Amino acid sequence: MIPSILPTYTRAPLSFVKGEGSWLVEADGRRFLDMGAGIAVNALGHAHPALVEALTRQAETLWHVSNLYNIPAQQDLADRLVAATFADTAFFTNSGTESCELAVKMARKHFHEAGQPDRVEILTFSGAFHGRSTAGISAAGSEKMTKGFGPMLPGFVHLPFGDHEAMRAAVTERTAAILIEPIQGEGGIRPLPDVCLKGLRELCDEHGLLLILDEVQCGMGRTGRLFAHEWAGITPDIMMIAKGIGGGFPLGAVLATERAAAGMTAGTHGSTYGGNPLGCAVGSKVMEIVADPGFLAEVSRKAGLLRQKLEGVVAAHPDVFESVRGEGLMLGVVCRAPNADVVKAGFAEEMLTVPAAENVVRLLPPLTIGDDEIAEAAARLDRAAARVRADAA
Ligand SMILES: *Cc1c(COP(=O)(O)O)cnc(C)c1O
Repeated sequence: MIPSILPTYTRAPLSFVKGEGSWLVEADGRRFLDMGAGIAVNALGHAHPALVEALTRQAETLWHVSNLYNIPAQQDLADRLVAATFADTAFFTNSGTESCELAVKMARKHFHEAGQPDRVEILTFSGAFHGRSTAGISAAGSEKMTKGFGPMLPGFVHLPFGDHEAMRAAVTERTAAILIEPIQGEGGIRPLPDVCLKGLRELCDEHGLLLILDEVQCGMGRTGRLFAHEWAGITPDIMMIAKGIGGGFPLGAVLATERAAAGMTAGTHGSTYGGNPLGCAVGSKVMEIVADPGFLAEVSRKAGLLRQKLEGVVAAHPDVFESVRGEGLMLGVVCRAPNADVVKAGFAEEMLTVPAAENVVRLLPPLTIGDDEIAEAAARLDRAAARVRADAA
């Protein structure tokens, strides 16, 4: 008999009932060190007092009004995002994949308005993840996500990750945009080198294409800059965000330049809940905290510490681990043992990590993680590796 929850997830036998900072409390009372943070969602950890305050204050005042009216909380968040980024304008969604939907629509509409309605193709890359909507899975194009779901949304050209020649060859008069994650998350923490991101920007400029960045996972301070592309010294035309911006409240956005967004006039797009007062009140508080240069500098410092400790653990277990990769607090441990075994051994050590493609175990802790918790994470990973070895023997 089908379970009462549609069985689309493979779930670990853990039920968390409370969260505090970098820790999650299981129903049986055990405390787990949360090095996954809801897959980069709980950017400020669990139950951050400033976010609890922002949410409860808004909850006591006003939950929902339609986008038929002005929403001051939404205006505040939009102003903050525009002030802190390349963007001139923002549209609010409730998730990453909804941001993908709009990014695709916006890029196509841009060329339609520019009198080039045949320019609809978007170049995407193997290992990409842009969410589970039809546009999202069509963009990523992997068999795992698309098989059995009927005709995909046309107009995506799937290219091998890192193949510059293939990409140049794929640009035609029908190409509208390039869509890419500066650091692939689900794809196994694969950073796009800064020179490649610069090269993509140049390619887009050369051919008049729009550069769409998916910073749903790597954005919002995770790399030590507010957005990952800042390291490369370039800006996109359109950017998808979600996950960390809501700190655990469902919230996403598409940020864009005025030029890229030119086709999105009144009536062309909408969302009932997108930009609701609750989400925006939380998002503004997250922005206030994360966009602070002092906070971002701390993320970079802690990232250095975590990386150094992970390198030590990896070196101590060459039979289990191969290497560490990633940027900031978005790190991947490439495993020699099956990554699922490492994640499971982590559970036994009361620590949460997240598997990714390419046999990687992801570490995406809250950006607020403490130095002592970083040391604790390394110690638990070390013990988890010993468990994996013992189980294999
Ligand atoms: C999680 C993720 C998405 C999808 O976000 P949802 O909120 O699950 O729809 C899209 N892109 C990237 C890079 C992601 O990590």
